[in-house]
Amino acid sequence: MQTYRGKSVFGGVAVGKICVYQKGEQTVKRTKIENAEQEKARFNAAVQESIRQLGELYEKAVKEVGEANAAIFEIHQIMLEDEDYLDAVQNIIDTQKVNAEYAVAVTGDNFAQMFAAMEDEYMRGRAADVKDISERIVRVLSGGAGQGIHTDEPVIILADDLAPSETVQLEKDKVLSFVTVHGSVNSHTAILARTMSIPALIGTDVALDETVDGKFAVVDGTNGVLYVEPDEETLETMRRRQREEQEKKELLQTLKGRETVTLDGKKIRLYANIGNSKDLASVIHNDAAGIGLFRSEFLYLEKETFPTEEEQFQVYKQVAETMAGKPVIIRTLDIGADKQCDYFELKKEENPAMGCRAIRICLTRPEIFKTQLRALFRASAYGNLQIMYPMITSVWEVEAIAKIVEEVKTELTAQNLQFGDPKQGIMIETPAAVMVSRELAKKVDFFSIGTNDLTQYTLAVDRQNPELDAFYDPHHPAVLAMIRMVVENAHAEGIWAGICGELGADLSLTKEFLKMGVDELSVSPGRVLPIRKVIVESSCS
Ligand code: PEP
Ligand code: MG
Repeated sequence: MQTYRGKSVFGGVAVGKICVYQKGEQTVKRTKIENAEQEKARFNAAVQESIRQLGELYEKAVKEVGEANAAIFEIHQIMLEDEDYLDAVQNIIDTQKVNAEYAVAVTGDNFAQMFAAMEDEYMRGRAADVKDISERIVRVLSGGAGQGIHTDEPVIILADDLAPSETVQLEKDKVLSFVTVHGSVNSHTAILARTMSIPALIGTDVALDETVDGKFAVVDGTNGVLYVEPDEETLETMRRRQREEQEKKELLQTLKGRETVTLDGKKIRLYANIGNSKDLASVIHNDAAGIGLFRSEFLYLEKETFPTEEEQFQVYKQVAETMAGKPVIIRTLDIGADKQCDYFELKKEENPAMGCRAIRICLTRPEIFKTQLRALFRASAYGNLQIMYPMITSVWEVEAIAKIVEEVKTELTAQNLQFGDPKQGIMIETPAAVMVSRELAKKVDFFSIGTNDLTQYTLAVDRQNPELDAFYDPHHPAVLAMIRMVVENAHAEGIWAGICGELGADLSLTKEFLKMGVDELSVSPGRVLPIRKVIVESSCS
């Protein structure tokens, strides 16, 4: 068995033969021409033909992967009308008196290099697009046939890289998975792969030759592994996983687009938890009605220094806009305890889980808190963004937050910066917050119960300590009684209460949560549909 690691673009398991995809790259020769006008006319005709081909691809992609993902082919059409690009080609033909193929290839390389050198990640990603359109024109000019996979049985496609046009041209029923040596997670190809729901890896260090071509293999899209000629044990494990994935997929089909309403008519907010904006695709794919927990501290953990207001604003705005009016609950930074960030320069503590973490940092270092609040308030003008504060224990903390929020709003107003009026809620993840939840409910718009921490603080069991797994019991009657109490107090004050800790995704408790009156469950995206299934088959009474 040979094992190769890559980066996962889409999860799932594929089992089958490998087909190495050779691009059939064309070697473009430089030849002298006599008549530049004639050569430019040939070039213009090839551009028109390429635009026509892209139109066809667009239509095909709309049917297969939806309008938003098909848009790349419209973008390619627009790129083919770009004056700078067209002028550059014609200029080479004119000045160097060379064939159109060569002029296009050189221009494609130049533009791709220019894009690749740009600061902006999105623009860097366009380098592949400009190469893609140039290769298309060269193919048309040299009368080349369209590429594709020619196989009778479904295969695992192994390629150096795949351009969006190549990905979409793959006959879906002939492709089990694709694995590439290069490519980026943000590329349109990756986005298309996710939408096509086939296991996919990029950045896989594997040679594209006869050592793997035609061999039997397994792609573990979830863990980013390609097994060539897997041993019995691996194959069996993977086949089991594949069956489980298949069951999940079938569930997806029937439950997508359905409202999450109980048999007795209560609509449950079924949201998803995310760690960064890259998780959005999965939220949409799994049809969550909103984001119930965006762990914003990951923005901080990814960096070497504090993310600026502008950096944060862009991320929050993007998430709010992408969710298009659906709720996006962003939790303010929950740094501390297990989520340590060097540049915060937190003092070493004996007991970090009970130390300076989350809202305690924000209230003692308001300059950090204010930067985040400014970004959040500004982004709230672009969608249904809501703010949630973690690790609350007392009413005075909520009052102190409200004061800082007022200062932020005053500053933004003075600076003429636009902001919205986001709903603000708190996490209930300490026993103290549970006990004063009736008072807290008077001050906020919603509660979200963090059962991961609530379990650790209620049972006095460190959630990070694997030795104590047997003692860390979120099903403990004390934890369940606390959830019940929080929901009752929330309702008594007319606000909603949900669960965003891992327990919210525990299918064995879903019915019990409904009976308790829980209004919202926020879970990892892949859990949304299995939970919807239980909810639509249950009653609250
Ligand atoms: C929780 O404590 O349940 C929670 C959702 O927050 P985190 O797991 O990020 O601490
Ligand atoms: Mg927590």
